[in-house]
Amino acid sequence: MAGSSAQIAGVTVSLDHWIDGKRVASADRFATLSPIDGAHLGDVAAGGQAEVDQAVDAASRAFPAWAALGAEGRQPILHRFAKELLARADDLAVVETADNGSLLMGNQHRVVPRSAQNISFFADWALTLLDHKIEHEEVTNNVRYDPAGVAALITPWNAPLMLTTWKVGPALAAGNTLVVKPPEWAPLTCSLLADIADKAGLPPGVLNVVQGIGEEAGNALVNHPGLARISFTGSVPTARIIGQAAARSITPMSAELGGKSPFIVCADADLDAAAQTVAGQYINAGQVCLAGTRILVEQRIEQEFLAKVRAAVTHMTVGDPRASATRVGPLIHPEHYARVTGFVERAKAAGAEVLWGGEQADAGALYFQPTMFAGAAPDAEISQQEVFGPVLTWQTFETDEEVIAIANSTEYGLAGTLFCGNESRAMRIASQVVAGTLWVNCFFVRDLAAPFGGSRVSGIGREGGTYSFDFYCDIKNIAVRKGSFGAAGG
Ligand code: NAD
Repeated sequence: MAGSSAQIAGVTVSLDHWIDGKRVASADRFATLSPIDGAHLGDVAAGGQAEVDQAVDAASRAFPAWAALGAEGRQPILHRFAKELLARADDLAVVETADNGSLLMGNQHRVVPRSAQNISFFADWALTLLDHKIEHEEVTNNVRYDPAGVAALITPWNAPLMLTTWKVGPALAAGNTLVVKPPEWAPLTCSLLADIADKAGLPPGVLNVVQGIGEEAGNALVNHPGLARISFTGSVPTARIIGQAAARSITPMSAELGGKSPFIVCADADLDAAAQTVAGQYINAGQVCLAGTRILVEQRIEQEFLAKVRAAVTHMTVGDPRASATRVGPLIHPEHYARVTGFVERAKAAGAEVLWGGEQADAGALYFQPTMFAGAAPDAEISQQEVFGPVLTWQTFETDEEVIAIANSTEYGLAGTLFCGNESRAMRIASQVVAGTLWVNCFFVRDLAAPFGGSRVSGIGREGGTYSFDFYCDIKNIAVRKGSFGAAGG
């Protein structure tokens, strides 16, 4: 069974774990299917306690030497890692698209370059760190960012490569060793990541990948006593389960979770740009945590703006994510399709008006039309819960106080988008919307040094720049009494 692999669009992908620099098989396997057409891509090793134990043990043994390299020693290896990622850009892009149905063009031009940047950026940032002195009249506080140990990294299926490298980069640059548990609905690019890390010269045991089902491999991992950190991106219910394991062992945990983000359009905004950006919320079938899914439009421009959004959405092609014209690909899995359509049917039954969409698209079993609901009650499920599909809601407002209240009326606080023509008004609204990231007259762009994360149930902690190192490092103060070593220091 060892050496099991699949051919995905001409790319060989191992279906086994990667532990201590070697491929490891499991007796149990689970199928990964392509959401594009239901094709069976392969049977992936389903890890459990034994594989998790091996991986954490390998990571623990690899930790002292990796930590001892220092940021300077790790930087060239991580730069090779980023370079090798770029060298495999086409392979990574086609495999990600086959496995999770995300747009091929987006993977080629945005996701893979950003994934490489996730590695190289933090390799460099670790050098400029972080260690510093704080002078006090009696002591010098020597603040150090020490590696923490073995980090467990758990990621979801909507963007496995991007989200895994977003954790792998800072965790490795900080000097930790890793056990990655990829998402079972899209596990393949994380397997390629292991090959790439190996080619780049990461020592055995520094980056391990245990494939498997969340409730089995994931559960065994987060309950392992050998962990120093748990970094999780996924859903709120899973975070609650993992949080209990983290609480039992007092292991620091970061959580990047779901959202129901507001998209506010003021009357004086650039309405053409805003309309194009609203249409963009349907990309990847709306399976984007940061998507602005509640469109909140100033009353007096409602009809004008609605016509612009309708026109922009009409031009979006739903279909095969490998085709360059496609903007809306498939939902990931029949189970998720049923979940999304359940939200749609319940919203219809509750009396919400379908402005467009609301039905299966012609392209195939897992394709759903871009959908807009209007007239849903503020406390209705469709106004409050994350759908994670191509389904938006439309609502109007008259005053800034009203739109701020609506924006803040869910339990989430991940992100928000605001289109507005007046800077002071924009900053007033933006500063009062509860969100980890608020985009003004733009969407999705940010610097990797900027903080990223969610408020309320959308997350715990922040990642990006120094914030990532605040999580992945043990921050220590060595407070030395001034003059206690004499002038010669001895
Ligand atoms: P999920 O919570 O079902 O699964 C995420 C990961 O957790 C998977 O790898 C899964 O195998 C694992 N897992 C499941 N149960 C586990 C357990 N008991 N112990 C340990 N691991 C377990 O989420 P999903 O459906 O894969 O992803 C969609 C969710 O992720 C949405 O809510 C979305 O908004 C969120 N998301 C958030 C961000 C962000 O940065 N805030 C980014 C992308 C996705």
